[in-house]
Order: sequence, then C-alpha cells, then structure tokens
Amino acid sequence: MMLRYLIAILLVFGSLISFSQEGKREYKTKYVLVLVMDGPRWTETWGDSTHKLIPHMANDMAPLGIVSTAFRNNGPTYTNAGHTALTTGIYQGIKNNGLEFPKNPSMFQYWLKASGKAKTAAYVIASKDKLAILTDCKDKDWKGKYRPYSDCGVDGLYSGYRSDQITYDKTIQILGTDHPELVLVNFQQPDSWGHANNWEKYLEGTKFSDEFIYRIFDYVRNSDFYKDKTTIFVTNDHGRHLDGHKDGFVSHGDNCEGCRKINFFAYGPDFKKNLIIDTPAEQIDIPVTIGELLGFTIEGSKGRVMTELFE
Ligand SMILES: [Zn+2]
Ligand SMILES: [Zn+2]
Ligand SMILES: [Zn+2]
Repeated sequence: MMLRYLIAILLVFGSLISFSQEGKREYKTKYVLVLVMDGPRWTETWGDSTHKLIPHMANDMAPLGIVSTAFRNNGPTYTNAGHTALTTGIYQGIKNNGLEFPKNPSMFQYWLKASGKAKTAAYVIASKDKLAILTDCKDKDWKGKYRPYSDCGVDGLYSGYRSDQITYDKTIQILGTDHPELVLVNFQQPDSWGHANNWEKYLEGTKFSDEFIYRIFDYVRNSDFYKDKTTIFVTNDHGRHLDGHKDGFVSHGDNCEGCRKINFFAYGPDFKKNLIIDTPAEQIDIPVTIGELLGFTIEGSKGRVMTELFE
C-alpha cells in the first residue's frame, strides 16, 4: 500500500518536472551557444577519417554529444547567407559585405521578446565585423527591436576582421561577465586562409578553430553558471568547392557538394550522447530546434525540430 502511494507521488512529481502548466515539455537547457567554424570543407574535417585537423571535436567532444554526417547548407553557400540561415531559420540571398540586414527576425529577437531578458542576454561574437548584421533585420515589425548585443570585428560593422584569438578571448570574457544565454560565435580562419590560396594555413586555421571551440566547450562544462544547463551546437556557414571543381578549396558559393555538406555537432543536457547520426538535417533546423528548447517559435521557417537529438 505504502509503495503504491510512493509511486503515485513520484509520478506526480515527475510530470511536474517535465512539463510546464501549458503541457509543453520543459527542458533542462536554459542557455544555448552556436559556435561556427567559418568555411572548412567536410573532406578536411569530419569527412577525413583520421580527424587530424579536428582532434578535439573527434576525441573530446563527440563522445559527449552527437555528430551528424548528413548536415547541409541548402541555401546560398557564402558567409552572411549561411549565418543568416543559422540565426533566422530562413534561407535567403543577402549581400555578403555587411551592407544588408536579413529580411526576417532572428532567434535572438524572438527569444529576447519571449523571455523579456536584457539585451546583453543575447550576443553575436564574431571575428568578421560584417556579421554584426545578425543583430537586426528588415522586417518592419521587428527592425530595431529586441536586438542582441554584439562584439564583431575590430570594432563593429565596417571596422575590419580581427583574429580568432581575440574572438576567443572576448568570448570567454563575455561569458564570464555578462553571462549571455543565447550566443553565436564565429571563427574566421579556415575561410580567410582558403581565400588566400594558402593550403597549409587553411589546414592550420581549421585546427586552431577546433582548439578554440573545444576551449569554449570545456569552459562551459566547468562554469558554475553554464554547466548542466547549456546546449552547444558546432557547425559551419558553408563548405568550399570540391577538388577539381573551379578553384577547389580557395572559393565557395555554389551548389557543389563541397560547398553544401558541412559539420554538425550538438551537446546538451536534453540530448543523447556518444552518437553519430545520418538523419538528413540542415542549417535552418538549428534555430528551430533552439526555439523548441528555449520556448519560442520562428514564423515562416521551413526548418524542423531535430527530434533525433533528444533523449
Ligand atoms: Zn564563411
Ligand atoms: Zn569565404
Ligand atoms: Zn562549390
């Protein structure tokens, strides 16, 4: 008899923990980081079975999270478009020079509105100054409203790129002081060295990005504020042309498989662990999945919640 009561009490408590009053599932995730390694190719990263340029992702992070081998940019494959897909959940053509804001509101805006949090709770941190465009949009109902804070390039829009080391240092500093809860970080190195046609530096830059991303991952896992409450996505804005196609690793921006196929890693308290999946998924699914975790809906997105990640 006592046991039956105990089970009944446990069941009631269990349902209180998992579901809010509206009957929606509540998640352990309170904070989300999206870490973008700008423009390496699949063939030099997860697609290389030795994983020699992404040792941390392969050896230290993959066992704690989920890697997808079927993740794509299915929109325009250049920097501002790839990042716009990752933050707005909608593919669009957009100027790549920082002179155009996305058409649609971003996950930052949806979330700041839904949560009522201070502006510093959402952050765009980027080596490329032009990614400050991710802080606003052209939609007349949203333009200028619920904008996240940003720390991009040397000193904001049109100030030039800065080193990934500075972006890493700034990220750790901002996480430690402002405790932002929804963050995108961009590391530019693989892309910039690719465009410079410097193969060795392109490889080295990819490895440096893996190092910076791992250090942020490790920081989050050891931070009293973030640990056990933070979901981390690691991906790319685009790949680069396959060898033998146009100028190969130097450029990107078209429909080739090298440009489309990109990396995906996810880690968090609501996600499965030590798993490699091949369920087709794409950039616009990331902000939609973040909306599911943090409690907002992106209007007009064709992205889907990546239910395959969830425990
Ligand atoms: Zn890029
Ligand atoms: Zn590029
Ligand atoms: Zn291509």
